[in-house]
Parts: sequence; C-alpha cells; structure tokens
Amino acid sequence: LGRDHRLEGIVVRGAGRGGAELGFPTANLSTPPHAAIPADGVYAAWFTHRRRGSAERGETYPAAVSVGSNPTFSGTERTVEAYVLDVAADFYGEHVDLDFVRRLRPMVRFDGVEQLIAQMHDDVERTRRVLADEG
Ligand code: ADP
Ligand code: MG
Repeated sequence: LGRDHRLEGIVVRGAGRGGAELGFPTANLSTPPHAAIPADGVYAAWFTHRRRGSAERGETYPAAVSVGSNPTFSGTERTVEAYVLDVAADFYGEHVDLDFVRRLRPMVRFDGVEQLIAQMHDDVERTRRVLADEG
C-alpha cells in the first residue's frame, strides 16, 4: 500500500455511536461515486481537513480508519470512518483527504462492544507507531 493511496470525502453524520457509545468519535466520509475505496479493514492514515469550498489547506493528523459495514453492530451499509488522534473538533461538512499508509487488520465481528473498544485502543497505538516511523 503506497503512501499515496488517497481518498477524498465530505464528513457526514453516521449512526452517532462512535463518540457516545465507544468513546472513539469517527468522522464518517461521504465519498465520490467512483472513488477507489480500500478493502474492508482498519488502517493507519493521515487525515487532512479543510472547510468545504475553501482552498485553504487545514491541518494533518494521524488517524485510525475503519472501512466496512461495522459487523459488531450488524451494519449493512459500508462506511469509511476516521478516528482522529489527539484532537477534538467538529468536522461535519468539512472536506477531508485520507492518505492510507498501512492496513492494520481485517474487519471482524466482536462478541460485544467491550472487545471492540479494547481492540480500538490497540488500533490507535499501532496507528501512532506506524505513523511516527513514517514521519
Ligand atoms: P457520527 O455517527 O455522526 O459519525 P460520531 O459519534 O462518530 O458520530 O462522532 C463523529 C463526529 O465527532 C465527527 O464528525 C466530528 O465532527 C466529531 N469529532 C470530534 N472529535 C473527533 C475525533 N477525534 N475524530 C473524529 N471525529 C471527531
Ligand atoms: Mg462516526
């Protein structure tokens, strides 16, 4: 996976459980019709946001990105969602570039929310290490 596998999107509303239920808010991306979305799984990626319609480039943060149908919640819709490390901000309506760096694991269905949360902590730590090495 090259450092330039880029996916663009606009941050939209999701099921609303990321922050409230899991403690990991995820910016859900609405992607263009023919965007090349990576295979289902969890990835370490760079997240760069900017105001919709603005040419000004925003900041870049490390992010743990989930691609898939959220099988732990028996989801049917495939989503691309980014938990942005070390920041709390309102990203709704913003334009985002995701630069996928490494695939961390496949998408799996957990028996409960607690196992999912434990795995997410691990995903975040691995994301941090992968992206720190990358510079
Ligand atoms: P939704 O289901 O609508 O995506 P979430 O509970 O997943 O709701 O929360 C996501 C929203 O929380 C994002 O769209 C963004 O506006 C906000 N947010 C705040 N901090 C973060 C963060 N660190 N990473 C991602 N989104 C964040
Ligand atoms: Mg979300």
